[in-house]
Amino acid sequence: MKTDEIIRQMTLEDKIALCSGADFWQTKAMARYGIPSLFMCDGPHGLRKQERGGGADMLGVNESKPATCFPTAVTLAGSWDTELLAQVGAAIGGEAAAMDVGLVLGPGANIKRDPLCGRNFEYFSEDPYLAGKLAAAHITGLQKNGVGASLKHFAFNNQEFSRFNSDSVMDERTMREIYLAAFETAVKEGAPATVMCAYNKINGTHCSDSGRLLTDILRKEWGFTGLVLTDWGAMNDRIEGFRAGCDLNMPGGSNYMEKETLAAVRGGALPESAVDASARRVLALALRAQTVPHPARSFDEQAHHALAEKAAQSGAVLLKNDGLLPLRQGQKILVTGAMANRPRYQGAGSSHINPTRLGTVLEAMPGAVYAAGCDDQGDSTPELLAQAAQAAKEADVAVVFAGLPDRYESEGFDRDDLRMPEGHVRLIEAVAAANPNTVVVLLCGCVVECPWTEQVKAVLYMGLPGQAGGEAAAALLYGRVNPSGKLAETWPLRYADCPTASYYKGHKDAQYREGLYVGYRYYQKAGVSVRWPFGFGLSYTSFSYSDLQLCGDRVTAVVTNTGSVPGAEVAQLYIAPPQDGFYRPARELKGFAKVFLQPGESKTVSFPLDDRSFAVWADGWQVPAGDYTVLVGPSSAELPLRATVRKEGAVLPVPPWQKGSWYEHPCGGPVQRQWEAMLGRSHTETVPVKGRFTMDNTVLEMKEYSFVMKCMYKGVEATVAKGFGGKKDYTDPQFRMLMSSSAGSPLRSMQISGGMKDGLFHGLLDMANGHYLRGLLRLLKE
Ligand code: BGC
Repeated sequence: MKTDEIIRQMTLEDKIALCSGADFWQTKAMARYGIPSLFMCDGPHGLRKQERGGGADMLGVNESKPATCFPTAVTLAGSWDTELLAQVGAAIGGEAAAMDVGLVLGPGANIKRDPLCGRNFEYFSEDPYLAGKLAAAHITGLQKNGVGASLKHFAFNNQEFSRFNSDSVMDERTMREIYLAAFETAVKEGAPATVMCAYNKINGTHCSDSGRLLTDILRKEWGFTGLVLTDWGAMNDRIEGFRAGCDLNMPGGSNYMEKETLAAVRGGALPESAVDASARRVLALALRAQTVPHPARSFDEQAHHALAEKAAQSGAVLLKNDGLLPLRQGQKILVTGAMANRPRYQGAGSSHINPTRLGTVLEAMPGAVYAAGCDDQGDSTPELLAQAAQAAKEADVAVVFAGLPDRYESEGFDRDDLRMPEGHVRLIEAVAAANPNTVVVLLCGCVVECPWTEQVKAVLYMGLPGQAGGEAAAALLYGRVNPSGKLAETWPLRYADCPTASYYKGHKDAQYREGLYVGYRYYQKAGVSVRWPFGFGLSYTSFSYSDLQLCGDRVTAVVTNTGSVPGAEVAQLYIAPPQDGFYRPARELKGFAKVFLQPGESKTVSFPLDDRSFAVWADGWQVPAGDYTVLVGPSSAELPLRATVRKEGAVLPVPPWQKGSWYEHPCGGPVQRQWEAMLGRSHTETVPVKGRFTMDNTVLEMKEYSFVMKCMYKGVEATVAKGFGGKKDYTDPQFRMLMSSSAGSPLRSMQISGGMKDGLFHGLLDMANGHYLRGLLRLLKE
């Protein structure tokens, strides 16, 4: 009621203005209407609260207030534990409330489509069922404290290359079953206060302009009642944005297209009701934040650190163990690898947190001997390798800490390949040659190639485990805690085996030719061997599965701890659909449950099923008729329990292009022709055209063709380099990120993120298009 009253009093100008932020992190306060401002910050695995005023940035470069750095999504996902996700969410929500933050920008529910995506560490899984459930749990926990969550990046944002203006091109079924499905669960079950629309386009339309995405699907189909805000600088056309239901333009300060919007409403091209709807939602969010009970001004740092440790332990995945682990007291242990001393525990970019404290694994393993073996960058020398090998010879067990240093993965750019630094590989090989009792602990946000696996006896994957990762690793290595994580993404043998390998890298338009065949859906259907399958993870105990029962819409099974130590198991349920009709993956995850069991103990796990567990998208959700196998077990590749369910559903026509075996292509999806047949139309990559550049083009794209843009590029580069002592260091992740987020962002995003007024960029654009005089006049007018 109150919101309606306020909206009625507001002028059109003020309503439009309210729908753009005040600055980098706040919505506008309008005292004359009693509208408070709302403060928001990143997200997702802890708070990055920058002080009001100066020093704000969207890349995690400037300092933020200390907050607990929980494990990143890659590690949290490894836990397959929705309760834990809710606990972590609640702790983050508590810290937000204590710091006066009304909205936390996260979690991210994007699918890990290709392991090269620089931001995969911030996403949960290659599987939409798992990603959706984990995101929903995180949101539910976070919002318990009255703080809002912002589910991001909606949607189809699966690469960092050209992330601000790339076009994600895919067929409807792939959208629905894979990329939207995770968001759908998160929205329906988590009810986030806000959704953040992504930078990219979907089939040619910017997400911020897409009424189909933001209104038809998100609001009308899924019942979302909250607010949509843009990713930072993602607004394309403010008028289309209002029409589409894109409410809040962030960051604020630029007044981007506000004059044009006013004229569009006054001229009748845009109904005022569209502006009212968005203004009402901004207002409701700001007022909601005000109703949060007065928060404690502090939070329990010790308790949150302990929770971060528990989460890191739960999410770590034991990938190999030839009986060497757990380590035993009294063994002489060598710890090697620079990361043991200066751990990599979180990713670079907007999610970067200033931790309340940071322990190292060395401190947590007091009796161990240490040899660096390599430097912080992952480089090594013959001397460092020789020292590590010598120390390994003298030890009972050698533990190598390796993975990916910062410069290899970050928001803002994709990885070049799946290789670990040469120095890390050489260190593993040298140590393993010196001592067969070698363990590798991996610290990285995404899959790496592990050609050395056969040379070592054990591999423990910590992901990016947050500020308590060191203590967590030590507890797992010594068996004080039994590993119970499972992989939320497949580890292929080599990058060339990935379905997207032949067309993912370096394309502005992301062609989703592999369709549904993402991750294990591809490897299993095409029969491609992998290093470690989706859902895989070992334990220091063993489990058996028995007694599968199907009763109505519920499946139950019994899991027993058959070993000698307590441990937790993630039981997984997959549905194998019929393979003789409409094309479908060989099996798909449709349920999971984590149970803790004492030695000898059995528990019944239960999985609810519904129509969606069997459905495909064919102009709506439909269950094709046929025999479905229900499979239960410890991983996607090992499913000892099975039963058949008959479905008397729809008979769907088999499209002609499906007759081939395109999903069996050894490395890469179908050829263009087959993909276009699936897509239902032809597609050619969009390229910037000289003379017809738009505000959607980047300085980086235009500099090849335009002298003005070349000069601008040099100017941006020099400005960025100033922060790096004048050095243009493209190997520094922060430098690369800053360059890709400035020169690599469209002019409209530069304007919005820079809080600048219209004329400047339009003037430069005119000049780049060859209209020098017009451009100059525009510049002078500003
Ligand atoms: C990122 C978002 C983040 C925002 C604010 C953007 O560049 O894509 O995930 O929330 O910046 O820092």
